[in-house]
Amino acid sequence: MHAENRSPSVFLPSTASELLELRRKMPRATLWAGGTGLMSRYYPYPYPLSRDIISLCNVPELSRISRTERYLDIGAAARLDQVLTVGHHILPPLLAKALREVGPSPITGRATIGGNLCIPDLRLNLAGALSLFSVQVELRGDPSLRTQSRQISLNKLYRKEGGLALKETEVLTRIRIAFEQGDFQQFHHIGFPYRHPDEAVIFCVFVNHGESSISDFRFSLTFPSIGIFRDKEIESLVISTSLPLKSWEIQGASMVLKKTLQSYSSRILPIQHAREVQAFERSLTQLNTRSVSR
Ligand SMILES: Cc1cc2nc3c(=O)[nH]c(=O)nc-3n(C[C@H](O)[C@H](O)[C@H](O)COP(=O)(O)OP(=O)(O)OC[C@H]3O[C@@H](n4cnc5c(N)ncnc54)[C@H](O)[C@@H]3O)c2cc1C
Repeated sequence: MHAENRSPSVFLPSTASELLELRRKMPRATLWAGGTGLMSRYYPYPYPLSRDIISLCNVPELSRISRTERYLDIGAAARLDQVLTVGHHILPPLLAKALREVGPSPITGRATIGGNLCIPDLRLNLAGALSLFSVQVELRGDPSLRTQSRQISLNKLYRKEGGLALKETEVLTRIRIAFEQGDFQQFHHIGFPYRHPDEAVIFCVFVNHGESSISDFRFSLTFPSIGIFRDKEIESLVISTSLPLKSWEIQGASMVLKKTLQSYSSRILPIQHAREVQAFERSLTQLNTRSVSR
């Protein structure tokens, strides 16, 4: 039988070393985590090109979640609802909301944190939310390394020109999130990031503030089929103001955002421009309300 006509073989490694060995031998095989992304987007069955499948589901190490005083360590194949249950009291609220809003339980009960981060052409809820925190990801399987793994910050997982910065034989195995307290946190998706990625925007903000001063202001805008936008200058501009912000200050910051985004990508559609500006201005207005009612 021609190789392209045979059914794909499914491999079910039960340890991380077995998984990495299989990956090394079959770099073109599909890594299967929850399968929700693979089944709904990429490969309608029967897929024209038969590709073998390596499942991550049976590797206990990859589903493990642990915490220390400073970090939450999540195995890449931990399911989203598992992360929500274990992290109930410790997840930053904006991250918990990002997880919940991936979808109903048939999706969050199967989809994994690694799968959400590793769809090559889509930046979704978790990448947007985690971009505001100090997050390291562990990659294993690079044969040129003497050590077993390498750690990189999450934003280095994504190439500027699109796609993942994983080597052919590498697997994302763990995500480490440093704990942080924020006074004001928001996560919103406007539109449908997964079904209509070209029109949707994901907005995340993390703020620490006193009665009238802002000590920390971070925000990200995720354009699912383009990438994640952060801008330190706009963040500093907001930090340099006092609470409550005047309406002209909100408008001013919003104008700078509009201009900066024009040079960020020409692929942003007018509907996304309208959505991102609305989300940014609304969030600053809500920050005002929050600071006044403190
Ligand atoms: C109807 C529907 C609506 C959705 N809406 C949203 C939404 O609004 N927001 C949102 O964020 N998500 C949404 N999702 C996406 C959902 O979160 C993804 O399907 C899911 O995150 C993919 O996870 P998975 O574990 O099923 O990955 P899989 O489908 O198994 O894999 C996805 C990709 O990641 C690769 N991969 C998986 N794990 C690894 C790893 N450890 N290392 C390297 N590569 C890996 C796979 O090879 C594949 O290319 C939606 C999905 C559906 C079906």
